[in-house]
Amino acid sequence: MTGVTARDVGRFRPEPWPEQITEDHLEFPHWDGLRSERLLLQRCAGCRAVQWGPEYICHRCHSFDLGYDEVSLTGTVYSWQRTWHAGTPADAEHLPYVTLVVQLTTAPRILLVGGLVGDQREPIAIGAALEGEFVHLDAYSLLLWRRA
Ligand SMILES: [Zn+2]
Repeated sequence: MTGVTARDVGRFRPEPWPEQITEDHLEFPHWDGLRSERLLLQRCAGCRAVQWGPEYICHRCHSFDLGYDEVSLTGTVYSWQRTWHAGTPADAEHLPYVTLVVQLTTAPRILLVGGLVGDQREPIAIGAALEGEFVHLDAYSLLLWRRA
């Protein structure tokens, strides 16, 4: 957890479902990849398209021959939102926080939602460069994003 505080993790921890993903689950390679600090997304063996979230069929060519490939941990800000009001009392200690929509550099058709690491009050620009940062918890790992 390099440079990432518990405060950074708390608001993005998707409880409890990642613990329930077993090896036979469609999303398992993705979550297993995060554990070893690799971002793995589905790639079609037929047309080579990358897609996310995981499906049993390719969105582009309708092939069922899908696997997982590693993509780079760089991207840009496609969109963002700064939250100032807590949805629940437990969220109040994490305010404000920024939620990002990240456009991946090596798979620009993919948009990932993720949390921003670092100063949550600094200005954010659409198109700003981001780098992925892994956070390892007991049961699973998460990918957050830092300004590059
Ligand atoms: Zn395909």
